[in-house]
Amino acid sequence: MIIAIDGLAASGKSTTAKLVAKKLSITYLDTGAMYRAVTLQLLRSKIDFDNIDKVSAILDDMIIDMYDYKGANIVKLNDEDISNQIRSATVTKHVSEVSALLFVRKSMVSMQRKIGHNNDCVVEGRDIGTIVFPNADYKFYMIANIRMRAQRRLKEMNQIGINKSLDEVISDLKIRDYMDSNRDNSPLRKAKDAVEIDTSKLSIIKQVNKIINHVKIIK
Ligand code: C5P
Repeated sequence: MIIAIDGLAASGKSTTAKLVAKKLSITYLDTGAMYRAVTLQLLRSKIDFDNIDKVSAILDDMIIDMYDYKGANIVKLNDEDISNQIRSATVTKHVSEVSALLFVRKSMVSMQRKIGHNNDCVVEGRDIGTIVFPNADYKFYMIANIRMRAQRRLKEMNQIGINKSLDEVISDLKIRDYMDSNRDNSPLRKAKDAVEIDTSKLSIIKQVNKIINHVKIIK
């Protein structure tokens, strides 16, 4: 079973997807973390993002491992724990540019399909219901107003020691949403058959229950 959850940045996808997966005892796949891991590695290598040969060689050498450890989402790159580094302001600033590259997307989508093929999953991202798993059993599209999203993101950033103003976060989110929605390859779109959930005024429990109830009703 695949439950696809797409939506705008900081719309509540991650928290909701993680809890839905836990409730259903199935795998949680954060595809944004995969694009963030690639971005981190490309920034470290200091090569031009459009140098296809070098970027492809780096992709070939990357082993991304993601798992839950005591409730925390651990992301490992070639056995190094990069869970916090992929949330840095620098990675966040460049991730939309990297994720717009076709050859990066092809590589990530192939990994995501392999994982989804072998496991029941809640998969969270931007193109899950449209491109990665167009035949997903359930599809959801999450939105929320920009101020609410920025407040949530700011709280998360403060927790890992990143300080920014609310206005800066609003501006960063708007740029990222624009880039993700207007790229040529797999732009962020609501799938025709996705159920839209506006999380602006919903508690996390209510967001989770909306999905769980829907899954139960359709089953
Ligand atoms: O979900 P998160 O905000 O961590 O995603 C980081 C970035 O990764 C997004 O802004 C987008 O550029 C990219 N992404 C994507 N396709 C996905 C998931 C994330 O392009 N399926």
